[in-house]
Amino acid sequence: MKKFDPALAISSLEQFGEFGGVNPSITDSSTFTFLGAKTMVDTFHGETEGCFLYSRHWSPSNFFLSEAIAAMEGTEAGWVTGSGMGAITATILQICNSGDHIVSSVTTYGGTYAFLKNWLPKFNIEVTFVNQSDLEAVKKAVRHNTKIIYTETLSNPLLQVANIPEMAKIAKAAGAKLVVDNTFTPMIFAPYQLGADIVVYSMTKFINGKNDLVAGAICADKDFINSLIDVNNGTAMLLGPVLDPLRSSGILKNLHTLHIRMKQHSLNAMYVAENLEKLGIKVIYPGLNSHKEKPLMTKMMNEQFGYGGMMAIDMETTENAYLVMEEMQKRGVGYLAVSLGYFKTLFSNSGSSTSSEIPADIQKEMGMSPGLVRFSVGLDNDITHTFEVIKSCLQDLKIIK
Ligand code: PLP
Repeated sequence: MKKFDPALAISSLEQFGEFGGVNPSITDSSTFTFLGAKTMVDTFHGETEGCFLYSRHWSPSNFFLSEAIAAMEGTEAGWVTGSGMGAITATILQICNSGDHIVSSVTTYGGTYAFLKNWLPKFNIEVTFVNQSDLEAVKKAVRHNTKIIYTETLSNPLLQVANIPEMAKIAKAAGAKLVVDNTFTPMIFAPYQLGADIVVYSMTKFINGKNDLVAGAICADKDFINSLIDVNNGTAMLLGPVLDPLRSSGILKNLHTLHIRMKQHSLNAMYVAENLEKLGIKVIYPGLNSHKEKPLMTKMMNEQFGYGGMMAIDMETTENAYLVMEEMQKRGVGYLAVSLGYFKTLFSNSGSSTSSEIPADIQKEMGMSPGLVRFSVGLDNDITHTFEVIKSCLQDLKIIK
């Protein structure tokens, strides 16, 4: 079988601007005219091709980006949202009704965890959290009313690798949808090709790569995307988490360099992870032989893009984590900031920031150390120098000799 190449799928698209522009034109309109009244009615009912009605539903700019993101995943269709949370919540609310049940990995982004844990019970939707690495536990958690199995390909912040093909089998047997957040690993994984039903993204991160906006995406088959934007009961159409077309056109241009950026993020993260581990630091990085799910990742990943830009080190205590992060920022390693996928290195203490929605006892149960420092390794040209600076921070703080 020919290997799936997400970068080729994007670059093969023929998308042009109105006047032959090499980039699609930006549509700066919320509404669109029709020559015939009947065509407007047909468009309202989703019965026309290539017609636009109103930009909360579709706009040409968002259509171009959706087409490119869908190509990257190999799905029939996509829809882009104003944030990653917009993509996640619209997807979940489209599938689940009151009385339904979700099985979710316990290690997800804190905002997702808070939505599942605190918000959904208001609408009588129950969630069972499981350790996604324990497939028996996933199977056992499934009930007759389970509608979604939810996971992240590479979990935040512990970088556990989800066994997508096996989880897809469990979901299929249960008549549920496997929804996968692939925010940490665009290009590296194509979860739909591995059996997921719906892939969601925060495009705020690697896909856009500039930290100048928030955005999200949903990739799935045509029926699901059409149901999301149905004028009568589509969650995306009615809750309105749409992406602004101006932002959309910027993301599309950045998407065309994603494959190069992912390779460099991966090379740099591998270098830092390997060398920190040699210094005796406890490092979590799925490209290391010490990561027990490396073989699983190697089996599932697309060729060429490496093991990703995300890694974590364990400084054991929050105090140590704060000291190291402040020192690294002072010495120019990168920024003490949440988020990821930026061209500069970003680091944060997960337990007290992006995972702070997860109660301390659950963090402990998940195996998340209070001193965990998550890195999104940047695109540094001389990563050996960056590593030497990190090493000098650790030495001067007496964390290593
Ligand atoms: N999914 C993951 C894995 C994330 O890390 C984040 C944000 O940090 C989100 C979803 C939410 O995305 P956004 O901030 O674009 O709403």
